[in-house]
Amino acid sequence: MGKWPQRILITLGVLAVIGGAAYYWLIVDSSGPSGGSYSIDMAEVRRLADSIPGDKVQEIHVEHVASFTFPATAIVAGDGWDTKDVPVQSYQLVFPDHTAIIDTALDKELGKDTTAFYSDAYDRMIAAMDTASLIVITHEHLDHIGGLAHDPHLRQLMNVVKLTKEQIASPEYMTSARLPDDVLASAKPLVYDRYLAIAPGVVLIKAPGHTPGSQMVFVQRADGTEYLFLGDVAWTLRNVELVRERARLVTRFFLNEDHDAVMLELAELHRIHEAEPNLHIIPGHDASVLADALKTGLFIDKFK
Ligand SMILES: [Zn+2]
Repeated sequence: MGKWPQRILITLGVLAVIGGAAYYWLIVDSSGPSGGSYSIDMAEVRRLADSIPGDKVQEIHVEHVASFTFPATAIVAGDGWDTKDVPVQSYQLVFPDHTAIIDTALDKELGKDTTAFYSDAYDRMIAAMDTASLIVITHEHLDHIGGLAHDPHLRQLMNVVKLTKEQIASPEYMTSARLPDDVLASAKPLVYDRYLAIAPGVVLIKAPGHTPGSQMVFVQRADGTEYLFLGDVAWTLRNVELVRERARLVTRFFLNEDHDAVMLELAELHRIHEAEPNLHIIPGHDASVLADALKTGLFIDKFK
């Protein structure tokens, strides 16, 4: 063999190795950081859940507003290229004399990349926002803040919308659902370190990583049933069970996410999930968790 063909073969071989390594790193790998820590003190969260006097949540209603379709490996690194349903929800906490909303999904315009959009569900959510006494978002992404961003009554709603300091400070993550600058400037931020009680039985848990303003929401119902809404720390329960992140191609180049921070959070959620089987973990976009919760009555279909 002459020198040139040999060099070409060697070059191709090197490229294949680099390409294989890059493919593995971007699509398959979900290794975590060597240092750092993240922990949730559930005893302290429960103490805070009891710190605001008043009646706790009686029912939790859900609206399934839209669905995306993603390849499995975009959701759990290494899960392959089969496509999966990625539902987008809004939740309504029903207290005896008022309601609160967690996450506001998106409208049809923002949802142009969705594979399904349910206008009736969206309309019920928008109507319910008008009468809610509290609206929080798990994080500043368009499929969670979009319904609020495009609500015709946005400015009036800001009286009951509670955004965190970090959510207000990172509007670039809101992309096309970015709240107007004057609304952001006049919003009174929630400022807290790790946990914050915001209603009887309802506690915010800071969880930066997926976005700077990401938080989880713990809810303890009046009958003692407990939920932990993860926002998009994990899109599915499988991320928690396997302690595996989304593929880096997604976290690095589409989401600009702190992959290591999310890995530490997944490890802690995995610990809690094992230790507390009665705590209902609700990931951001898990079709089977949603279906099961509707079947067992954990969630009631359609807002009040
Ligand atoms: Zn999301």
